[in-house]
Amino acid sequence: MSVQELRILHLYPELMNLYGDRGNLLALRARCLWHEVKPIITEAGPGDPVDFADRDLVVMGGGQDREQRMVARDLAGPLGHRLRAAVEEGLCVLAICGSYQLLGTSYATAAGETLLGAGIFDSTTGPGLGRLVGHIAVAVGEHGKVLAGFENHGGRTFLGQGATPLGRVIRGYGNNGQDGTEGAVYRNAFGTYLHGPVLPANPWFADHLLRLALERRYGMAGLRPLDDSLELAAHAAVVRESRIDARRRARERGRASREEQGTPPEKQEAI
Ligand code: GLN
Repeated sequence: MSVQELRILHLYPELMNLYGDRGNLLALRARCLWHEVKPIITEAGPGDPVDFADRDLVVMGGGQDREQRMVARDLAGPLGHRLRAAVEEGLCVLAICGSYQLLGTSYATAAGETLLGAGIFDSTTGPGLGRLVGHIAVAVGEHGKVLAGFENHGGRTFLGQGATPLGRVIRGYGNNGQDGTEGAVYRNAFGTYLHGPVLPANPWFADHLLRLALERRYGMAGLRPLDDSLELAAHAAVVRESRIDARRRARERGRASREEQGTPPEKQEAI
């Protein structure tokens, strides 16, 4: 049988690459090679011509408001329309944080500017009080799968009827820190707040994306089981960090509420 190829597009690599999100590309490339799939990785920035018919998986990283403004402008043009049409036809997409926000319908920044999104996810994002920062663990699907990563965002995302959450927050904030949802899924497009980068420490999710993309192109994906012991150790470490962060936040909340009730500080330590 001839070697399967997987065409991966890294969209806006210069503008959207926070907290090591480029590592997602490295993980996909490495796993393709281990699975004996030939990865073909290309990059495109604002204004570059892109033919999505020729791509199997699009990967986009997180970004700050300034960069998001430039990307929103590009997505408002023909590229955004074509990306939306390709997702309707089953194109696989992974969008992290700032990119996830821009694949929704709109993102209102803390500075009061509203950026229109590509409208792939039925979601809106707006500012909130303070940033949502820390390690996060998320339950995905019914099979006990857990995504673990790191989040750092000011925006709060709320999903509409047309979007399905990627998962439920176990520890951390997720979409908005209120409704327990994390990320969004529409067809084969996945949006998530998880940096880390997310794919190296969540090998099952990386393979899920590869499988979807290969099945779409070839009708089958012959992915072999890999030795993921290093990746699983990284996953366990991130889950552990999410527990530590959750405990710290609980302590801080306790301290804040005791201060509000006027308990003297020397008593607070003894509680
Ligand atoms: N600028 C966006 C926010 O703060 C996205 C940040 C990110 O991609 N980490 O909400």
